[in-house]
Amino acid sequence: MTAEPDGPEDRLRRFATIWSRAVFPVTSTSLTRPEFEQQLLPLARRLSDALHARTHDAAEGQAVGAALVATHCTDPEALSRTLDCVDAYLVLYCGGDGPQEALRTRSARLQHAMAAGFAQALRERTLTEQESISRAALNARSAVADALHASEARFRAVFEGAAIGICMADLEGNILQVNRAMLRMFGGSEQHVRGKKVVEWTHPEDAPHVWRLYEELVRGDREHFHVEKAFSRPDGTALWTNLSVSLLRDADGQPQYQLALMEDTTERRLLNLRLRYEATHDALTGLPNRTLFFERLEKALSAGEGSRFGLCYLDLDGFKTINDSLGHSAGDRLLVEVADRLQACTTAPGEMVARLGGDEFVALTTGPDTQTEVDELAGRIMSALAAPIRIDGRELTVRGSIGVVEGPVGERSPAEVLRSADITMYRAKSAGGNRFELADPEADARAITRHGLTTALPTALDRGEFFIEYQPLVHLGDGSVRGAEALVRWLHPQHGVLSPDRFIPLAEHTGLIVPLGRWVLEQSVRQAVAWQERHGGEEAAGPPRINVNLSPCQLAHPGLVSDTVEILERAGLEPQVLCLEVTESALIGADDEVLKPLRRLADMGVDIALDDFGTGYSNLANLRRLPVSIVKLDRSFTRGMQQYPADPVDLKIVEGIVSLAHSLDLTVTVEGVETGAQAEQLRVLGCDTAQGWYYARPGPPERLHELALVDATG
Ligand code: C2E
Ligand code: MG
Ligand code: MG
Repeated sequence: MTAEPDGPEDRLRRFATIWSRAVFPVTSTSLTRPEFEQQLLPLARRLSDALHARTHDAAEGQAVGAALVATHCTDPEALSRTLDCVDAYLVLYCGGDGPQEALRTRSARLQHAMAAGFAQALRERTLTEQESISRAALNARSAVADALHASEARFRAVFEGAAIGICMADLEGNILQVNRAMLRMFGGSEQHVRGKKVVEWTHPEDAPHVWRLYEELVRGDREHFHVEKAFSRPDGTALWTNLSVSLLRDADGQPQYQLALMEDTTERRLLNLRLRYEATHDALTGLPNRTLFFERLEKALSAGEGSRFGLCYLDLDGFKTINDSLGHSAGDRLLVEVADRLQACTTAPGEMVARLGGDEFVALTTGPDTQTEVDELAGRIMSALAAPIRIDGRELTVRGSIGVVEGPVGERSPAEVLRSADITMYRAKSAGGNRFELADPEADARAITRHGLTTALPTALDRGEFFIEYQPLVHLGDGSVRGAEALVRWLHPQHGVLSPDRFIPLAEHTGLIVPLGRWVLEQSVRQAVAWQERHGGEEAAGPPRINVNLSPCQLAHPGLVSDTVEILERAGLEPQVLCLEVTESALIGADDEVLKPLRRLADMGVDIALDDFGTGYSNLANLRRLPVSIVKLDRSFTRGMQQYPADPVDLKIVEGIVSLAHSLDLTVTVEGVETGAQAEQLRVLGCDTAQGWYYARPGPPERLHELALVDATG
């Protein structure tokens, strides 16, 4: 029994125990420690829940911070200990086996929210306290004579006993009384406070409105004001306060005194600064992080007219390899070195560098002349990376790709700018890396459309936005139509009809190609049945065949054979009528596992065609190994035959392929036949069937009959 591992509930309780032990000594509560722990338990539970919530909700952390104040944990030390405890133990005890990195980030954000909630609750509490003191003071000053003594005594008691600093002055600013708490705040020295004038308490960090409000108050135009204000302590440090000043009037309503109440917020402010720093800087490199960068970029982009901005978006080339081969700690040291070098590149005013995460960095420059500056900046970064970095006695060469965006402010949002930079950076990468590229609106637009298409793809199938065109396959010997290839199109609501080259790669990338391909197969098979029914068995060459393209991803999909069988059976089509086209590149180097489903389909009688033959590098002898019965010669071969006389080398190659294919019992189809001369050449060379604009462009299914009829009569 004792070996039973702790459940989450036990671990939560343990966290609450640790927390209460840390905070109890600095709490002014009448509870015992175990009672106090019971009060913390629900708060611990809220933190634990917030740690695992799907999205971060600052309100949860703030509520816990506020609840601390409500349980009399008002000492700044209580907050500080709480945050240390959450930082060290929350993930450890309540994190479960979730991803550590994400949990730690969430825990940091929770701490930030807790500190904010704590500060807010404390401020509200202090204000309430301040108001009751003001009221007592006012009562004391305006009471009728017989109650004067009692109310003054009450005021004295409040005045001396209060935890917040209180100061009374006349309207000329001569300080009349200060309480003990206020003396303590100033370091305990009386002469620094007493005998001073209020106006001597200026501080370099005073907001401009502080002294305006003060003037209004002593003139009698304002009853009170609240500000955040710093004071200089005798030792030179700053005392930060929440200051609230009220005007006290005599019985006739004439202004007489001013009463200042101040709460020491110095520690809390430091804590907030620390938390703010942590929330806006990258722990590894110390550089500003994504959050701070976006703040700065937003500010730069909303600067006045005539301002421009330039941004370099850097991604290291091959960083993953370094990380994987030398380990994460070496990777980290490399990133730190890169960060230092980048920092040295951005020293001019208006320049900053930040780490967005992983091996992605950005450098920003602002001002009127960023057109030349950003170029120079990108150049500086490239040369800063040029010198190898020494890690563990190894010299590592670091390279990077940079996307540069430059332009006037006020036209684009930070997200748009960053997206453009990201797209441009990828352009630099795909051009070989180790370079920078300038953003180009047209390239951006293409990439953005690509992105838009990718997101629209999944619903397009449900909405019936795809349709199929059929392109006839013609027998070169007698010119009869033997079948057709199914070619899918997307009728996009905004972009009109899109060719498969625009969306098939995206569908392959997202996996949608599997359902889309199945849909194409279903439609095409049904179409083949419809052709058969209309044509009957009139044709000597048998029923029109249907060719359907298969993507490599579909080949790997386990449902390929069963789906195909089911579709054929449901439609009632013999497998011999179907031909599946697979590109040569998909089969290069394919092992037997990959070929197995194709072989099973071939055994059933389905023809397999090797599409775009000649564009890959497949070994011709390799053809024997593949379950293929047709090769489709790529368009590049027919292109060489457009002129008369045709390119003799092309002729020789095609002749060679045809004779080899025939010796392996394969049928040869040619694609992209655009002229009668080509058709004739290819017939002479021994090709069996052809496809191309010379016969017909891809079109609606009815067209196949028209062609067949023309052929039959012509
Ligand atoms: P593919 O299978 O090689 O298809 C032949 C392409 O050549 C078609 O382009 C066709 O319209 C075009 N073409 C036909 N005759 C001529 C000609 O005489 N001259 C010229 N210049 N071009 C001609 P399309 O329809 O744009 O299809 C492009 C590729 O998209 C296809 O190449 C195929 O690989 C793929 N594809 C089309 N439909 C599907 C599908 O349903 N599933 C999959 N996975 N891929 C498909
Ligand atoms: Mg094809
Ligand atoms: Mg092809």
